Amino acid sequence: MAERDPAAGEPSAAHTIREFTHGYEEERRLRGFRSASCGFVTATWGLVCPRCGRADLEEAALSGEGRVAAFTIQTVPSEEFVNDAPYAYVLVDLDEGGRVSGWMPAVRSDGDLAIGDRVRWVPSYKAGVQFEKA
Ligand SMILES: [Zn+2]
Repeated sequence: MAERDPAAGEPSAAHTIREFTHGYEEERRLRGFRSASCGFVTATWGLVCPRCGRADLEEAALSGEGRVAAFTIQTVPSEEFVNDAPYAYVLVDLDEGGRVSGWMPAVRSDGDLAIGDRVRWVPSYKAGVQFEKA
């Protein structure tokens, strides 16, 4: 973890984008944030609540389970996924709240997945947030 400037005071849970991505890349967990004022949960890093605008986001536990909100089959992958194509690029509504984008390596055609299917996050050595069918 990066050194902090003690003069900057205690950071919030959403202090830096580096600390956010640190969650799934190194600690193998998804990080979420809950607004203390309105209870809104987001899985997207930010300094203020996207619903009420208050700077009161606290870290929230996310199970990594949810339902597919949307997906598309990716047949022209970026370089790091060239050996995984085709695969699904997915948007997942997490059970606790928040929506995250990710990918599913075992989904190779439209018939392999449906909107509303249960999925769960899988820690992976690869970049991005990987899901599998739950
Ligand atoms: Zn809020």
